[in-house]
Amino acid sequence: MSDRLALQWFDGQTAAAHPVVAWLADGQLHLQGESASRSYATAAVVWPERQRHGQRQALLPDGSVLVATDAQAWDAWRAAAGHQDSTVVRAQQSWRGVLVALALLCGLLFGTWRWALPWAADHAATWVPADVQQTLGEATLDELDARWLTPSQLPEAQTEAIRTRFAASVARAWPDGSAPPWHLVFRQGGKRVGPNAFALPGGTLVLTDELVALLADAPDALQGVLAHELGHVHHAHGLRLVARASAAAAVAGLVFGDATWLLSAAPVLLVQADYSRDFEREADAYALTLLHGAGLDATQMALFFDRIAARRASEDEPELPIAISSHPSDAERRARFGQVH
Ligand SMILES: [Zn+2]
Repeated sequence: MSDRLALQWFDGQTAAAHPVVAWLADGQLHLQGESASRSYATAAVVWPERQRHGQRQALLPDGSVLVATDAQAWDAWRAAAGHQDSTVVRAQQSWRGVLVALALLCGLLFGTWRWALPWAADHAATWVPADVQQTLGEATLDELDARWLTPSQLPEAQTEAIRTRFAASVARAWPDGSAPPWHLVFRQGGKRVGPNAFALPGGTLVLTDELVALLADAPDALQGVLAHELGHVHHAHGLRLVARASAAAAVAGLVFGDATWLLSAAPVLLVQADYSRDFEREADAYALTLLHGAGLDATQMALFFDRIAARRASEDEPELPIAISSHPSDAERRARFGQVH
């Protein structure tokens, strides 16, 4: 049984206040006044939400009203009786609740940004028509030619031999023809791009003269590098990069009212973007499939990693993030290609 609390009771018919004493016991609200006693099931009482100020009013099932002018005494009485405010009211009452609500909201927004947008972007990337991919790839190659690359100096017989060998490797590794269409072009990387390779939307693979020279004694490693790039094409990593950045930019564009720059920005964006470690793992797995499937020597990739690492240590020129020489060649990657099958 709760303490007894002195309250005012209004019968709901007249404006007269009747002093009563109230207590709670056995699921009942008991009222005792000068002339009569009443009991109500506490579950049937509409208890007031607790506010910071003002009196407390409880609506009783028969239309009468119980009023406490001393709100603090009422709150203490209810609390002592074991009554709990609804969760919402209690949360609103406390700063901790407000902070938790804010944190949840931030979490929701972050989750949308971090996971929902990439998910939507990844799916959108797979719907991009082939000719749009081709156009985007060509625009990106133009961007690279304008800023980073110069024409290849390799004799055509040599580039054609590399093309032919890679075509044969792809055909052996995926005899069902499931490999994506690709188109191998050669460029001189110069001081800034150096020995490198990268893939563009639509299946264009770019290989620099310097990388051909770097791996002249390790032709299977060159095949592995090309297969890694084909893996980026197969998984549409470039498109997914652009789509993710575009989705974020599209949202920003909606918010700020300007998304027109996006179309012209996509090639620049792609050149400056960086593949995630997951993308690299997928591309490496694809390369391994080709090396093993075509009966090539995957361990030659160690030469590639060693030579690229040595070159990176000796220079400080900026590199193309999408290019293979800027990928981390950590122990995990080395071990992957070191496995003997
Ligand atoms: Zn890569």
